[in-house]
Amino acid sequence: MLLKGARAREIKDSRGEKTIEVEINGCKASSPSGKSKGRYETPSFHKSLKWNVDFINKTKFDIEIDEFNDLGKVEKFIKQKAKLKNVREFGANALYAFESAMLKAIAKEKGKELFEIVSEGKTIDKIPVPVGNAVGGGVHSHNKEHPTFQEFLLIPKEKNVKNNVRIMKEVYSKIGRLLKSKVKNDEGAWQTNLDDEEILEILKKFNNVNVGVDCASSSFYCDGEYNYKNKKLDRETQIHYINSLIKDYNLLYCEDPLEEEDFKSFSKLKKSEKNMIVGDDLTVTHIDRLKRAIKMRAINAIIVKPNQNGSLLELKKIFEICKKHRIKTIMSHRSGETMDDALADYAVGFQADFIKCGIATKWREVKLRRLVEIEKIV
Ligand code: PEP
Ligand code: MG
Repeated sequence: MLLKGARAREIKDSRGEKTIEVEINGCKASSPSGKSKGRYETPSFHKSLKWNVDFINKTKFDIEIDEFNDLGKVEKFIKQKAKLKNVREFGANALYAFESAMLKAIAKEKGKELFEIVSEGKTIDKIPVPVGNAVGGGVHSHNKEHPTFQEFLLIPKEKNVKNNVRIMKEVYSKIGRLLKSKVKNDEGAWQTNLDDEEILEILKKFNNVNVGVDCASSSFYCDGEYNYKNKKLDRETQIHYINSLIKDYNLLYCEDPLEEEDFKSFSKLKKSEKNMIVGDDLTVTHIDRLKRAIKMRAINAIIVKPNQNGSLLELKKIFEICKKHRIKTIMSHRSGETMDDALADYAVGFQADFIKCGIATKWREVKLRRLVEIEKIV
């Protein structure tokens, strides 16, 4: 098909913040936005959201696009037209929404599903396991008294997605009752003033889910110290503490347990098949930081957020590198989400091991529903 032009407009995400939606041949795609952003993430827009909207609306493309790798032609064109050294300078939110709309348009033209365009005809061996944020803390909290860690995650143990989603929702509701919480944060996770270990004590009672945490440590780290609600830990004691939490609470998943500059300390954490040390702010979905993390044995799993990078071609490379080095992959939403459900297609198309897209609220539920739908198709 010939990509002639695209339409872009400003929309609001689930937090009411401005982001971008792009429409190509009747196919709409949008970008979410984060609150606990990594220092090295690609900025969301080039000069401003308005600049990107104007650029997309005014540009005549005239590019033949038929398959995933044609994103290369579009990235080259954008780079030249906008006079950029690297296409990511276009802004990750703008680039991701544009590329995603383009892939949706190709899928529509060919009568295929989006995940089939992304997988480029390769067999779909697995449907990613959902990882759901049940209890929230850190910078995602609205209440003053809150847990230090940002997310307390449920990872259901069933083989099929439909059952996993059901289990996750059931456990999430039970946790809400146990916490006596009626308030939810931006992502729909329960709010509480309990501390981290009190929450983990509750979560460990459920046999049908594995437990994970996103510590988002950079958000409570300052000048060599990790500042908890009730204690301060230096680098070495933080490593020790995280290793003991993994053991005591049988954590399958531990995201950003150390601050985003400290690759060296990440490499000192115990890792095994049964415990994932996950990079998010550390790796920010960037190839160079992933390579550095692999070289230093800093992680054995990585969060992949399309709008931390912007380029879906780079995401493809990231998945290839991870497969080669046996790094588990978690395709992830942002705390400020849109109603776009394409994340599920990218998770399946790139064959991610997990998908972190929340549990409750309509913005999260559309992605889970799409995942269940894909499971029926493949
Ligand atoms: C995260 O840290 O994993 C996350 C989803 O946060 P945000 O989207 O706020 O950056
Ligand atoms: Mg994170």
